[in-house]
Amino acid sequence: AAKEQGRDRVAVYSPGMTDLVNERMELENGLRRALEREEFVLHYQPQTDAATGRLVGMEALIRWESPERGRVAPDRFIPVAEESGLIAQIGSWVLRTACRQNREWQCMGLPKVTVSVNISVLQLKRRPFVEEVQSILKETGLSPQYLCLEVTESVAFRDEAIMEVLGQLTALGIRIAIDDFGTGYSSLSLLNRMPVHILKIDRSFISGLPEQPSSVVQAIISMSHHMDLAVVAEGVETEEQLELLRLLGCDEIQGYYISPPLPPERFVRFLSGIESA
Ligand code: C2E
Ligand code: MG
Ligand code: MG
Ligand code: MG
Repeated sequence: AAKEQGRDRVAVYSPGMTDLVNERMELENGLRRALEREEFVLHYQPQTDAATGRLVGMEALIRWESPERGRVAPDRFIPVAEESGLIAQIGSWVLRTACRQNREWQCMGLPKVTVSVNISVLQLKRRPFVEEVQSILKETGLSPQYLCLEVTESVAFRDEAIMEVLGQLTALGIRIAIDDFGTGYSSLSLLNRMPVHILKIDRSFISGLPEQPSSVVQAIISMSHHMDLAVVAEGVETEEQLELLRLLGCDEIQGYYISPPLPPERFVRFLSGIESA
């Protein structure tokens, strides 16, 4: 059926199209209800220091546990949330929940780490975003130094208004990471002017290592360091990859080799097993 061929496929008129449109509408309605029925949860994936192995942060990743559909992957519903405008509410929920949870764990005396939250470009375009972040930090009591916002590399980085928002967030003491670096459109000159602190190398550059030549990864790391950016490697799955990235001077590691994203109760256990630095 057409709907099984994925949303990127160019649609040619067919009886299956009605199914696609219906499926889209059902998904959107389901998302609308999911907020009220509290069907979203955040999972947390550890991020470690490449040199020492010490836990330095965690990325919050949304999960939708739908009673009707089972678990729906974010790659499937985030685009629908963006197109329908629901991302504003979902994004607020994610940010508030991640900040609250991190603060709670800190108050329990667990090691203090940074929480990274994925932000859709559409959230940055909504006028009061900076104020919203400020009020969430105030409400939850989380210090801005323990919050990092991940923005996917895209044409948005050519948008002056968005750059200004990122600058304001930076001024608050929040860190900004460019997500999925290497898949988008950033030019080097642009990168140099951007108010960002961290660059996350997309998984597609890591998955071929160590068999594939590491020259691109090496270039990204050295370029980042020249611009005073810290580098996080995404999707690290093997010890060989970790070793190579360490040799190349990569700063932080995230991937199944360290741990998959964990539900909160399991992440707490992960945190508890770690000595404070
Ligand atoms: P992302 O921000 O690049 O997140 C990394 C994705 O890679 C996650 O997929 C994670 O589970 C997966 N991953 C981590 N380590 C490995 C590994 O070693 N191997 C492989 N194969 N995969 C790994 P996930 O959780 O399905 O999320 C997919 C995307 O959905 C995210 O990509 C992000 O763009 C988006 N997303 C997730 N949560 C949120 C959210 O709260 N808000 C927004 N706006 N987007 C979100
Ligand atoms: Mg991310
Ligand atoms: Mg990524
Ligand atoms: Mg992504």
